Amino acid sequence: MKKKPIKESDEIKKELAELRAQLESQSKPKPKAAKKEAKPKAAKKEAKPKAAKKEAKSKAKAIKKVEPEPEIPKTMEEELEDQYSDEELRNFRIEKKDMEQLTNRVCEILAEHAEDGMLQSDVWKRLKLTNRDGSRLSLRLERRGMITREKILQNGRWTYRLIIEQMPISLESIQNAPCLTCPVEQKCNVDNVYPEPSPKHCELIEEWVIIESKKKK
Ligand code: SF4
Repeated sequence: MKKKPIKESDEIKKELAELRAQLESQSKPKPKAAKKEAKPKAAKKEAKPKAAKKEAKSKAKAIKKVEPEPEIPKTMEEELEDQYSDEELRNFRIEKKDMEQLTNRVCEILAEHAEDGMLQSDVWKRLKLTNRDGSRLSLRLERRGMITREKILQNGRWTYRLIIEQMPISLESIQNAPCLTCPVEQKCNVDNVYPEPSPKHCELIEEWVIIESKKKK
């Protein structure tokens, strides 16, 4: 009769131990699941400042675009173009200068640099012209289709390179032309119909052009 309470207490102890074990297993945190949850939280925390930085950068860019660019000072030629009409520029004259002679000299100088052109300041030096007169002359020649002007930056200043458009005709190049001694030169006309004399169907002029072009090669 005395052994019975001992058996019951053993069973109670066992049950208590099992319950404790169950409780402990339930209360312990699952380490793997916790780690999985931790990652996205960290990512979210980092994502916010990056987005803010991007936004700040795009705002800064937008502000830069709106800022007005510094104004580039006008060249003397641009100021003259603002002041005068095309017709006035075409007829510019320089005081006490023979404009036809001056035009021929500019064309002769530029013909020496037909491929690359020449800085206008170098041309004016050779002709002993002031910048003001030179600028007027270059605008006159450009409006007459004799030269083109290319705006370039030279030693931090805007200037122009002048390029010849119409090569001057030298006396040497026409001294053997058949027209100079042609007996029918007075009747010769480009609108004439064969057999009336015309350069369009003249064998003499055709031969002369072929010979001259071979000489230049
Ligand atoms: S084009 Fe011929 S025909 Fe006319 S003037 Fe010259 S050489 Fe004479």
